[in-house]
Amino acid sequence: MSKKKQDGKRCSFCGKSQELVNRLISGYPNVYICNDCVELCSTLLDQESTDESKDHSTSDTEFNLTPKQIKKHLDNYIIGQDRAKKILSVAVYTHFKRLKLHVKKSDDEVEIEKSNILIIGPTGTGKTLLAKTMAKILDIPFAIGDATTLTEAGYVGEDVENLLLKLLQAADFNVEKAERGIIYIDEIDKIGRKTQNVSITRDVSGEGVQQALLKLIEGTVANIPPQGGRKHPEQQYIQLDTSQILFICGGAFEGIADIVQARKGQKVIGFASESDSSKQLDEYDQECKLMDDIETEDILKFGMIPELVGRLPVLAALHPLSVDTLVSILKEPKNAITKQYQKLFELENAKLEINDGALRYIAEEAKKRGSGARALRSIFEEFMLEIVYNLPGSKKKEYKLKKEDIIKYKEQSFDIPKPEKQKAEKSKSPKTKKNNKAS
Ligand code: ADP
Repeated sequence: MSKKKQDGKRCSFCGKSQELVNRLISGYPNVYICNDCVELCSTLLDQESTDESKDHSTSDTEFNLTPKQIKKHLDNYIIGQDRAKKILSVAVYTHFKRLKLHVKKSDDEVEIEKSNILIIGPTGTGKTLLAKTMAKILDIPFAIGDATTLTEAGYVGEDVENLLLKLLQAADFNVEKAERGIIYIDEIDKIGRKTQNVSITRDVSGEGVQQALLKLIEGTVANIPPQGGRKHPEQQYIQLDTSQILFICGGAFEGIADIVQARKGQKVIGFASESDSSKQLDEYDQECKLMDDIETEDILKFGMIPELVGRLPVLAALHPLSVDTLVSILKEPKNAITKQYQKLFELENAKLEINDGALRYIAEEAKKRGSGARALRSIFEEFMLEIVYNLPGSKKKEYKLKKEDIIKYKEQSFDIPKPEKQKAEKSKSPKTKKNNKAS
């Protein structure tokens, strides 16, 4: 120790010599930091992160994010869907400005209407992700419900309140916090009437749920049994005012494009103009255009009751995901699945690289399954299973995956060997299978 002291080492930040501090931690050659400076830096960082979360926090009415900033945050997690992200950013911004006004409560103030949101888009294109990410960015409680389960249960009122219970749980039973949360109701289209012919084909139970949701979305003081389940008279209830909760409803509205197409007539379908073939829209662009053109009347025609549509004034339509977008989803979001796996490999001191050919192949396979980006994870994880299974303790430290590796794997997994064959193969060459999967 005395030798060290004689070395004359000093903290590179405050300049104190080793004798004057408890610890001196060395970094890059000849760079040191003392325990006092570490503590100071840690306090500074803590302060910064508290300030940052204060910026996002909606517990007070100081909501400082602009629509641009909200969208920028969304961009970190959601690929494509630019128009929908913009619409949502503005809606949420407006919602919080409205809350601010609501707190001020001056009578002559113009009231901004609640901007509940309806997201329409094919399955797996990011409806839930958008709602979830929004809640995360804003640091407010978030709950997801499924409109179809409300239909099945029959006890409509009870189930709808269970949505609020979920929100309360997400807010650690802080009622004030829960009253400013976000509820996402999935599959809202599934409770719509199937046709406009009310008298004959009316889906009565579906409409019942719509009516129950109406009250909730419009704003009501609901009595929630803290344990959920059925109500009974002796039970203590928690009262929750839903008037400030932001409701985001989502649905695939399968077939709505046909309704839009029928409304718009032949003009828009496929061609910007018959004479200008260079402006011919391909099938994908057509699908996107139809989604962008959805109007309230199309949703009504689809079968939603006008009162519910009226309470969801913000409409955001999502595009189907192209193969290019699916490739980006695999690698670009902050928590992209490839990034997650690369981190996992790093923890085992190994390196994982997946080339673009392989990613494109996975994206093309996912596209074929028709469940949007949802299939990406399952295809990717299925393929990685064997490699990750063998990863810990393996001498191999570099994995460079190509399209051919995935194709080979796919062929093998479709041709599942019978037990005897498997045994024979194993005794011949135990490593052949593994070597085939990654090079
Ligand atoms: P749905 O539209 O059916 O609600 P989700 O939002 O649940 O679909 O998406 C399923 C999964 O697919 C998400 O967890 C996310 O990983 C991925 N995903 C879907 N769309 C996108 C997107 N636009 N950008 C990034 N990831 C996406």
